[in-house]
Amino acid sequence: MASPTSVGILGSTGSIGTQALEVVASCPDRFTVVALGAHRSLELLVEQVRRFRPSVVAVGDAAAAAEAAPLLPAGTDLLVGDEGLSVAAAMADVCVNGVVGFAGLTVTVAALGAGRRLALANKESIIAGAPVVARALATPGAEIVPVDSEHGAIHQCLRAGARTEVARLLLTASGGPFRGRTAGELAGVGVDEALSHPTWSMGPKITVDSSTLMNKGLEVIEAHELFGVPYEHIDVVVHPQSIVHSMVEFVDGATVAQLSRPDMRLPIGYALGYPARLPAPFGAIDWADLPRLEFEPPDRSTFRCLDLAYEAGRTGDLAPAWLNAANEVAVAAFLDKRLAWGGIADVVEGTMDRYPGAAASATTGRSMADVLEADAAARRQAGALVAAWERSR
Ligand code: MG
Repeated sequence: MASPTSVGILGSTGSIGTQALEVVASCPDRFTVVALGAHRSLELLVEQVRRFRPSVVAVGDAAAAAEAAPLLPAGTDLLVGDEGLSVAAAMADVCVNGVVGFAGLTVTVAALGAGRRLALANKESIIAGAPVVARALATPGAEIVPVDSEHGAIHQCLRAGARTEVARLLLTASGGPFRGRTAGELAGVGVDEALSHPTWSMGPKITVDSSTLMNKGLEVIEAHELFGVPYEHIDVVVHPQSIVHSMVEFVDGATVAQLSRPDMRLPIGYALGYPARLPAPFGAIDWADLPRLEFEPPDRSTFRCLDLAYEAGRTGDLAPAWLNAANEVAVAAFLDKRLAWGGIADVVEGTMDRYPGAAASATTGRSMADVLEADAAARRQAGALVAAWERSR
């Protein structure tokens, strides 16, 4: 039998990270964990290190790292800060990036720059950092296999035909907890309501993004970046049961779909094992117990974030970075009860109105510094809009 694939999991204490470890544990002959990393959730991280015995563990937060040091077993080296996360990301055959938000960009670039496979759950890095990520992806051996369930589905569906035969990508959306409600009904909904997703169990940031359809908007940009399909050939279909995870329509009219119960361990396992399929059947369907499958168009006027994302994607360059930063600020303010749910789209739209654009000549060869600067500038704009919103209450 071939030697096991080495796996590094960054963001190991989050929703994606803990499920990635379940997948690894289900196939102990195939995978070995060599690196784990988290920002500062120490208790769980130390427990994971004791169980999986990686050769390194990276802790993003310096104070948390100092606290972790005496708790680690012999044989596990401690790495600290962004640099530590980068070293850990470059170590394994496959790096799972389960970091939340823009902070995941470091991990994405480090793994690809080292010629590794990136099992990508951190969509923000490819959206905000597209120009930088594209360069890192040119490193021999580097590849991205998406963990996002929709993109994992498309990755699978694309195996049914040639790239030149693809007519369009159809991303499915559950519609989130607020499907079918009007903007007026939703203006003042609370954090608890936004966090109760009907089909998927995920972290708070992405769950709020699902409630606004920004998650789907970000996924449209992600699909464009991953698969090189123009925006006019990427559509969104609401499918409340979350059984069809996305589809590809080919030029002859055939649509190929990937179906399974909503279980993130399937796309995680697919990204770890590709091109092989793992013998652990996560998400297999019981056809005797399947709900009726429904499909409907998204309500674009209530869920404005979807078209804001399309617009940023079509603008290109650093506009997706602005969109992502504005959204992170708005969602954090909402979770903090400083912004109403209906204010999220307002803050994102207001920030995008202030996007400076760029001369066409300046849009090639974007550096990491350009991306970081755009991210910071958009955060300042969005922060000011949140503050103005708070004053106006
Ligand atoms: Mg998704």
